[in-house]
Amino acid sequence: MQGALPARAITGVDGLIRDGLVDAAGRRVLTEVGEAFRIRISPAMQQKGAEGVLAQFLPDARELNILPEELVDPIGDDAHRPVQGLTHRYPDRVILHATQTCEVYCRFCFRREAVGETGQLAEDEFLRVLAYLRDHPQIWEVILTGGDPLTLSRRRLADMLARLSEIPSVQVIRFHTRIPVVAPERITDDLVQAMQIRPAVWLVVHTNHADEITPAAEAAFRRLTRAGVPLLSQTVLLKGVNAEPDLLEQLFRALIRNRVKPYYLHHPDLAKGTGHFRLTIREGQAIMAALRGRISGTALPTYVLDIPGGHGKVPIGPDYLQEEGPGRWLVTDPQGGLHDYRDL
Ligand SMILES: *Cc1c(COP(=O)(O)O)cnc(C)c1O
Ligand code: SF4
Repeated sequence: MQGALPARAITGVDGLIRDGLVDAAGRRVLTEVGEAFRIRISPAMQQKGAEGVLAQFLPDARELNILPEELVDPIGDDAHRPVQGLTHRYPDRVILHATQTCEVYCRFCFRREAVGETGQLAEDEFLRVLAYLRDHPQIWEVILTGGDPLTLSRRRLADMLARLSEIPSVQVIRFHTRIPVVAPERITDDLVQAMQIRPAVWLVVHTNHADEITPAAEAAFRRLTRAGVPLLSQTVLLKGVNAEPDLLEQLFRALIRNRVKPYYLHHPDLAKGTGHFRLTIREGQAIMAALRGRISGTALPTYVLDIPGGHGKVPIGPDYLQEEGPGRWLVTDPQGGLHDYRDL
């Protein structure tokens, strides 16, 4: 995408109609959707003609179809909440929900009922988080997520990072964020400077479509990598957005070219009103199988499912190994050929 960005984010159905992004005929039902699930499209994501990008942010009447298997807290964050703002599911790492604000609201988000314009972690809550981290020195990594942690002001962020750094057992701080693609102008040298702290800072960028990797996003990646911040990506597999080998190939190549290592490909979560984005695990495995051998191993993420109920993330194949008997294996090659393998 070239040229000047639109001046501001679109946050409601009327704005979408004004910009010709949705049809006026849909006003009533889309307003109802917007009341259930917040709407926000950042300037950088208002890309006309980029269907795979816009489909992630435009409200859709199908969001009102809530299926019985769709849960309020699909990945069970609430089941492991020792103090407000913290999810502690794995012994060595925690998720810190620093804010509930995002620069965009993704229609498929598994936190779609928690995210919103307000809700920064209050000072007394942050003090309790710090106390919990001090009491649990086995926690070596703090994952800042949200909402989107990079929507916080640089000052607030620098303050949080400095206070987390004072805890000797915290060795890694990881950001999970969409900002480098949805609002790349926010990745300033000043912000990157705030990431130069004692713990290693890693950044996982959430991106789902090659058209999100604009020249401005590439410049943001460059500012981060030049400052020594390793970049990973996570992608949600979404029908109507990216669920085709060709589209994912373009995305993963664009990422590797920009020194971003594809980390996770998430099977879509059972978030409310997101059935139209979901595909089956078999379909997801077929896409992964098509990519294996076709693109570099470095460009291939792990396809994972977050088990509903807070039981963790696990790889879900495809499986290349079948046990035929004790120590006897049948191995599938990238082209689908079968080969025997025996353990000694
Ligand atoms: C995804 C997740 C993590 C991080 O998992 P990694 O596999 O290390 O990326 C940590 N805690 C919770 C609760 C999570 O959902
Ligand atoms: S938390 Fe992430 S996926 Fe969810 S709405 Fe915000 S930016 Fe989108």
